[in-house]
Amino acid sequence: MSQRSVAEALARKLPAMPFVAGHWQSHSSAQPFDVVDPVTEQTLTAVVEADAAMVDRAVESGHDALDGEWGRMDGATRGELLHTFARLLEERAEDFANVESLDVGKPGFEPRVIDLPQAVATFRHYAGWADKLTGQTIPTSGYMGRSTLSYTVRQPIGVVAAITPWNSPTMIGAWKIAPALAAGCAVVLKPPEDAPLTSLMLAELAEQAGFPAGVLNVLPGRGVTTGNLLINHAGVDKISFTGSPETGQIVATAAAKGFRPTTLELGGKSPQIVFADAGLTAAADGVAAGVFANQGEVCAAGSRILVARDIYDDFVDLLAERAAKVVLGDPFDEGTTMGALINARQRDRVAHYVERGREEGARVVAGGSRPDRAGFFVEPTLFADASNTMTIAREEIFGPVGTIIPFDDDEQAIAIANDSDYALAATLWTTDLSRAHTLARRVDAGAVAVNGWSPLDPRLPWGGWKLSGHGRELGLAGLEADTELKTITIVL
Ligand code: NAD
Repeated sequence: MSQRSVAEALARKLPAMPFVAGHWQSHSSAQPFDVVDPVTEQTLTAVVEADAAMVDRAVESGHDALDGEWGRMDGATRGELLHTFARLLEERAEDFANVESLDVGKPGFEPRVIDLPQAVATFRHYAGWADKLTGQTIPTSGYMGRSTLSYTVRQPIGVVAAITPWNSPTMIGAWKIAPALAAGCAVVLKPPEDAPLTSLMLAELAEQAGFPAGVLNVLPGRGVTTGNLLINHAGVDKISFTGSPETGQIVATAAAKGFRPTTLELGGKSPQIVFADAGLTAAADGVAAGVFANQGEVCAAGSRILVARDIYDDFVDLLAERAAKVVLGDPFDEGTTMGALINARQRDRVAHYVERGREEGARVVAGGSRPDRAGFFVEPTLFADASNTMTIAREEIFGPVGTIIPFDDDEQAIAIANDSDYALAATLWTTDLSRAHTLARRVDAGAVAVNGWSPLDPRLPWGGWKLSGHGRELGLAGLEADTELKTITIVL
């Protein structure tokens, strides 16, 4: 049996329905929706969509869990459950990788090298935090002449609605579920309608790991239906969302009713700045990975490539060589280095931007066409001689399209980098230590990498500002974002 057939069989076998209050729910008043393989354009399976009653039940069961055994459980025991979850995920990593490739269209090595190891590491990281949520003792000047004892405690924020995108649903799901459970919250996960399958597998693991019913609920459904019901549900205490700025705004508006906190991760137009003193071969490899990994469907994609004029022509050639070596194909074929985009809409959106780039006068130095084959494929594309005012330099394309812009000096490089509606990630390629530290502080980005593209690690906080959203996931910041800080004062 080929790996593709194994993956397809796994996808067909999954319980394709909401998981609520510890049970799989097959009855819904909503229409099921099809999950389509981006490579074959064939339907993989039909999924039962969570309707209003299920959204109600999921939120309610989250509160029931908080009021019950889960709410009373000590941090160390929560940590053990998270460790068990991590171990089960590691044991099933091959299945997850296969289904993620099938569902998202990404080449097989990516979930094996990035998504699954990162998801497991995220559960392990937060398993370790679950019993370390401490407060502070704060000396004060007392109360009406009497001494006081003041201290802070961190409490779980409550029921967290987690809404994930289709580009890396397992890993981004882990980024939201693991800190929330470590903090003692309950989670209602709404996975992306285009790639919901591995999130259903996460629900299976929660059941096996022994989390009490209601601690993790998974509600497959479309954004405009299930997603919308969830973000407007008065019982949701916090919304953690990753996706487009347009939907992010809808989420923030819904959350404003009741002043519920949000964590919003909304993508970027991240600069990769290559200085003349950079090691050019390593920089070209890193920059190409930064723009083409995961078909460019990455919130941190380094899609604005700023190159020092002294090395501009040489560097454009090096990048074009790397684009030409990309092998488009079925994620399950050995040798494939780039898969298909998620759906026809995304493919057409990318094609539209490629057309705009041409119309606005940028020079195509790689790709630029749509391959003549089935599946939602686009060629890895590079535009040279672009300016930062062009649409392809300003808007997030979310596909394998890089825009190369020359600069003359450090001041101009930073000015171009920061002239963006986004501020998520940035990469600097330089061997000058002083320049690296100085410019890393000046560039507008929640995460800056020097001489490497956006290293992932659950210990490192992740998020941005401007249209890239607000709040941080991962690290201690990600844990604290799922808590309320309470101050307690005893008048002695
Ligand atoms: P989206 O923002 O529409 O969807 C993201 C998630 O939000 C999905 O789970 C979706 O079902 C849900 N959603 C959609 N509308 C909703 C609503 N009204 N209420 C509640 N939930 C809702 O993103 P998309 O359609 O998947 O992709 C569109 C664009 O978003 C992409 O082209 C890309 O630019 C961007 N994007 C960014 C990221 C990222 O990591 N920052 C990830 C995926 C997509």
